[in-house]
Amino acid sequence: MTRYALLIDGQLQPGEQADAVLDPATEQTVGYAARASHAQVDEAVAAAHKAFAGWAADPQARRSALAQAAAVLRENTQQIAELISREQGRPLRFALGEVAGAAATFDHYAAFQAPPAEVLRDDEQRLVRIERRPFGVVAAITPWNVPIILLVLKLAPALHAGNTLVAKPSEHTPLSTLLLGQLLKDVFPAGVLNIIAGDGSVGEQLSKHPEVRHITFTGSVATGKRLYAGAADDLKRLTLELGGNDAALVLEDADIPAIAEALFWGAFWNSGQVCFAIKRLYVHEDLFASLIAALVARAEKTRLGNGLDPLTELGPLTNRQQLERVKALVADARTHGAIIHTGGHQPEGPGYFFEPTIVSGIGAGVALVDEEQFGPVLPVIAFRDVEDAIRQANASPFGLGASVWTRDIARGEAIARRLDAGLAWVNQHLEVQPGAPKGGHKSSGLGYEGGLRGYEAFSELQVINIARP
Ligand code: ADP
Repeated sequence: MTRYALLIDGQLQPGEQADAVLDPATEQTVGYAARASHAQVDEAVAAAHKAFAGWAADPQARRSALAQAAAVLRENTQQIAELISREQGRPLRFALGEVAGAAATFDHYAAFQAPPAEVLRDDEQRLVRIERRPFGVVAAITPWNVPIILLVLKLAPALHAGNTLVAKPSEHTPLSTLLLGQLLKDVFPAGVLNIIAGDGSVGEQLSKHPEVRHITFTGSVATGKRLYAGAADDLKRLTLELGGNDAALVLEDADIPAIAEALFWGAFWNSGQVCFAIKRLYVHEDLFASLIAALVARAEKTRLGNGLDPLTELGPLTNRQQLERVKALVADARTHGAIIHTGGHQPEGPGYFFEPTIVSGIGAGVALVDEEQFGPVLPVIAFRDVEDAIRQANASPFGLGASVWTRDIARGEAIARRLDAGLAWVNQHLEVQPGAPKGGHKSSGLGYEGGLRGYEAFSELQVINIARP
């Protein structure tokens, strides 16, 4: 059984212990992840700190290393994707897409030129320029739902901007990230990229380390709030990409046969384990019955299975805790009178599978509607007045994404503007445009990732002000 090592200061190292990582489709061990000791966390940060000055000084070397990283990912796409599929559960073709997306992200930053410094004043008395400086050591802490692309979206811009990095993947899916470290070992100078693994306590030690100047995090709201509070001690900068409870609003003129497939995948892609998946579906009462029928038909022909089976459309939940949470939400919804139109059960056999489930008969006040389910269960709620639907969509501490579905684009756009969400779509959901910043309103996050704003989050401003004789 393969043991996956940590990458610290350019060396692969075993941890103080090795943790078995289970395949959620079979509950069999996929491999063992090294767990970083307290001393190894310190060592990784010290290595990143030591490597910083040299790395920050040579933008051309940074771009060529990023180009090389893209090539390494492309050469090893199959191996990385199979490991993602096995430890995370998703169909292999989507894991292949994830690795291709990560390689494209490295390519993008390899070619990217940071905008020039802004010259504020340049005359006989003074030269005043606004420049950007990297922070130094960045800590990247990532979740288990899309492990490689979420890491590379942090890693590539952070390194391009001149920072060095210590990354910690989720304890549920550490293997693909540790494999990435092994493959990239000789691409970056020693200490520039360090990969450690372990549970939340390792993340906590890393995030509180005094040499870490910036934390970039994707994960739950609860952990995001702890990081925010912990960062106050020495005013570390941080970017938080947290959960969502995205509403989709289907207006009375929507074309149900034309949009049902997109709505279904907007909610169920990756078995619903996406921060900005559709998690509440509001539909005009005239279309309620036809939308339920279309979603049920689609759910019932969905192939659930092992991600390595090419016919699989939906894999299992990634870990037992998540399965138990989804089951508990469905059980609670039943006690509140929910109608389960299809699904609602864990199928027989091994693995953390749950049937794609369409629910109605519940609304605000029931956990399945109010909270983030992060699983293959979609509550559908009828509305009569669109103003009421907008109010319900916005009555949430979350504000990540939201969408409006209508044949009237102008009206859809006007409603999208009124939805309190960092990503507001019309006639689509989940679509991420390269170059667009991603970020949540309210409790869904802090700051932006992606695009120029996301890039700039990995540096801080410095005003150079020179008096001329
Ligand atoms: P989930 O509960 O869905 O696993 P988390 O937000 O807890 O989501 O996990 C996201 C990432 O944050 C993981 O890498 C996890 O190990 C890490 N983590 C959990 N707790 C902490 C913490 N207190 N400080 C830093 N990182 C943490």
